[in-house]
Amino acid sequence: MLLNVSQLLLEPSGSSREYQLEERAALLDGAEDSVVTGTVLLFRTDKSVWASASLNTEVRVECGRCLAAFGQPIDITIEEEFFPLLDPVTGIKEKPLDDDGEYQYLSEDHMLDLSGPARDCVLLDMPMKPLCNPTCAGLCSNCGVNRNDVQCLCDSAAIDPRWDALLSLAAHNVDEN
Ligand SMILES: [Zn+2]
Ligand SMILES: [Zn+2]
Repeated sequence: MLLNVSQLLLEPSGSSREYQLEERAALLDGAEDSVVTGTVLLFRTDKSVWASASLNTEVRVECGRCLAAFGQPIDITIEEEFFPLLDPVTGIKEKPLDDDGEYQYLSEDHMLDLSGPARDCVLLDMPMKPLCNPTCAGLCSNCGVNRNDVQCLCDSAAIDPRWDALLSLAAHNVDEN
């Protein structure tokens, strides 16, 4: 997710660029690369390049109930300011802002990398327990089959003990009728 801003840096404050992004990126540790699509707007400010991105992706993850792999859709919104490490005209190294890693920087060859902010966004938006489907039936706790695919007989054999009282009451009512 690299964009070359060497030209934009030479332009006056207020200049902008718009990009349509469609590329693969590694957005989550342990997950395969995701296709990221969307629009990126870059604005030249007097000291930096402001990136405003609205992107969509699907990250391959495991369902928290049935353990099947599926694509979790994620919207990525980035509003981030990137500061140059070198003066764009003279090429002289600029003094980095005094910070504790809270600023984003362009690389020395004037590349703006959106993958860091995008990864942060994915981590924030990823559900704690991703579900392949809100109605996912999960795995049977008794025999382990995926109950979205297979109907096992465990449910009819093992009835939740909390139902016992209700069932005996129901049976009792039937007897009386
Ligand atoms: Zn599932
Ligand atoms: Zn079962």
